[in-house]
Amino acid sequence: MNELPLPSNVGGGGGKAPGLPKSLLNYVPEPLQPLFENPFFSAGFGLVGLGSIMALGRKGFQTSLIQARRYFFVSVEVPSKDKSFHWLMEWLALKKGTNTRHVSVETTFHQHESGDIVSKINFVPSVGTHYVMYKGRVIKVDRTREKNVIDMNSGNLWESITLTTLGTSRDVFHRLIEETRLMAMDKEEGKTIIYTSVGTDWRRFGHPRRKRPIQSVILDTGVSDEIIADVKKFLSNANWYNDRGIPYRRGYLLYGPPGTGKSSFINALAGELQLSICILNLAGKNVSDSTLNHLLSTAPQRSIILLEDIDSAIPDSVVQQTSQKLQLQQQSQQNQGYEGYGFNTYGGGGGSSGSGLTFSGLLNALDGVAASEGRILFMTTNHIQKLDKVLIRPGRVDMKMYIGLSTPYQLERMFLKFYPGEIDHAKKFVDLLANHTVSPAQLQGYFMQHSDDPIKALENYNQLLTDKTIA
Ligand code: ADP
Repeated sequence: MNELPLPSNVGGGGGKAPGLPKSLLNYVPEPLQPLFENPFFSAGFGLVGLGSIMALGRKGFQTSLIQARRYFFVSVEVPSKDKSFHWLMEWLALKKGTNTRHVSVETTFHQHESGDIVSKINFVPSVGTHYVMYKGRVIKVDRTREKNVIDMNSGNLWESITLTTLGTSRDVFHRLIEETRLMAMDKEEGKTIIYTSVGTDWRRFGHPRRKRPIQSVILDTGVSDEIIADVKKFLSNANWYNDRGIPYRRGYLLYGPPGTGKSSFINALAGELQLSICILNLAGKNVSDSTLNHLLSTAPQRSIILLEDIDSAIPDSVVQQTSQKLQLQQQSQQNQGYEGYGFNTYGGGGGSSGSGLTFSGLLNALDGVAASEGRILFMTTNHIQKLDKVLIRPGRVDMKMYIGLSTPYQLERMFLKFYPGEIDHAKKFVDLLANHTVSPAQLQGYFMQHSDDPIKALENYNQLLTDKTIA
């Protein structure tokens, strides 16, 4: 019977199947050679080798993918902490809102000046990967949310959006983010954005408010123009400050009785010069020297930092520490007989712990490095005499302006604001109040009671002087 010839290494008979070929066996250390002569062992070894080669191949493939991504794609990461994150989200909501099936919901409430509350539901692309077209290019949008990292400022989980597209230039992202910015700005056109300090962060306060026309705030002759001219000059004079090495900042103090238009004027000024307003709250329990420093150096660009009612805004304890700590320091130096005992000169909270707001910390923050686009600080007070002189010395406050009770000029202008064209009545009204002092806020309250009748406003002027509930 004919037997099929078997390959010599296939088991059978007494033939010894060879392991590793002889030529390779030479490379194996002698004590291990018997192992490699075993066919099962060397087959296993072959498999392991093959596995390793595949793993290496896979790794190489991944590395080349990463390299390819590096060379052929551009990407940008936008963290949720950045303003452009919200612009992008709005843009994405518009872009994808209608045709993506994976969305999350964002509900916003808006209270109109009339008091009506309107809620709006927005669909924004959910966490995950989305693709959008922008100027003929496909952009991959990865929205990610960290499970364990919290944005300390907002209290929300840390999020980011990564945009990736084919190409080598990041210009496309510049253009896209600029477009989303303009889109957001468009919505804010004619409005003043208000920020308040929360912890170490500036947060938007409510919805942007309609700009208050500057002529609606009636200050005494020339006062308004003088302040506006000063701020305008400051804003256009960056080089003057830089050339002389002077910190690019300017401080203003408006002082005078309540209800004379100090806050209203600052709001109107912001509207006039297209600035936003950052209301600095010093009384918060988390405000410390370092947070204040941080806040002042990170205020949004082109904004007015506003410290209202500065006499009461600085907690008494902070001002008192100034003198108390000085005394304590002097005492301790006498007792101990050496200098530099734990207290810093004005230090609050028991010295160098770094927590809590101190008066010297406040002064340092006001003197701190000003942002390159300039820092405008407005303070208001009803009691200038209560303020420590060092707080309002030149350099910290460069312009002090008294905003007083209504002068005849203001009386007339206020009357005409409510009863346009009634010049004769306005003059009579000024005569009637010649020897009395009223604030513009009182006038406003009074005219609102007689809003459509200038004669009644004349006849009842006594009510303005006696009725304490007005304004
Ligand atoms: P202040 O900050 O000096 O206490 P506000 O700006 O808060 O005064 O004014 C309180 C109210 O009175 C506002 O509604 C404002 O419209 C009105 N008012 C006060 N002063 C003026 C003014 N000079 N011109 C127009 N309205 C004024």
